[in-house]
Amino acid sequence: MEVRPDYYDSFRCIADKCRHNCCIGWEIDIDDDTLKKYQTTDGSLNEKLNKNIALDPCAHFVLSENERCPFLNNQNLCELIIAGGEDMLCQICKDHPRFFGDIYGVTEKGVGISCEAAARLILTKTSPVKLISDSVVPNNDFFNYRNEIFTILQNREKSLNDRIAELLAWADVSLPINDIDFIEVYKKLERLDNDWDNYLDSIDTISFSIPQALEIPCEQLICYFIYRHLSGALEDFMFAERIQFAVLSCLIIASLSKNTEAMIEISRMYSCEIEYSDENINILLDILNEYNEK
Ligand code: SF4
Repeated sequence: MEVRPDYYDSFRCIADKCRHNCCIGWEIDIDDDTLKKYQTTDGSLNEKLNKNIALDPCAHFVLSENERCPFLNNQNLCELIIAGGEDMLCQICKDHPRFFGDIYGVTEKGVGISCEAAARLILTKTSPVKLISDSVVPNNDFFNYRNEIFTILQNREKSLNDRIAELLAWADVSLPINDIDFIEVYKKLERLDNDWDNYLDSIDTISFSIPQALEIPCEQLICYFIYRHLSGALEDFMFAERIQFAVLSCLIIASLSKNTEAMIEISRMYSCEIEYSDENINILLDILNEYNEK
């Protein structure tokens, strides 16, 4: 069985209209099945594929000097799709920005906000996100725990600030933004784009107060982080820390955003910088865990 947010099926890549194309700046690994297909492809693509694939340490496309995928043409369209359709894509390109998880035999699907089209889809959704499934989700502690979090976060009879306070109290933690200088912590994390430093430099303090105009996108954002990251706690038991991480991430993004449009771009960048780096997430979770255990 599978679970997905109700916006999942509406996702569409905006291709040449994308300002931050996922075929630029990321290493693109090639799975074994696709590699075999590429190695036996003949015709006009054969020579270019041979020239632009490296096998060490694992098969990947050799990016050009400005870090573009060698098959991204001047109109920012994929030459592999143009030549052979979507079947020519390696698995990572077929999937991105979708992510998948397996929780107690349930396949969970989502779209990641490192993609600007996915960030826009999620943050401009006005109704509370629903998790939909093709059959009844097992009644177990994890799914019940996550449902309770969603119920607290989506109770629009209260302000989002009150819902966040309620959530932290329910998880029996606080968010140590007055005790830990998180801006300095974030500045020391692994960096992808130096512009991120400029954003961090512009924050005076992380505010606990979310402006009313950003309540709905912030609610969607925290729910997204919970949906995507809470299940990691099934391995390391850092449930409360992941709730704190979701709230902290939202507060930082909200502190940098004047309106929803700005928030879409900041969220995209935050996701690329923080969310897609296991190393960065683990540093933040460890800091929160150390604080909680004091
Ligand atoms: S980042 Fe998203 S919208 Fe842009 S090219 Fe990639 S999948 Fe498409």
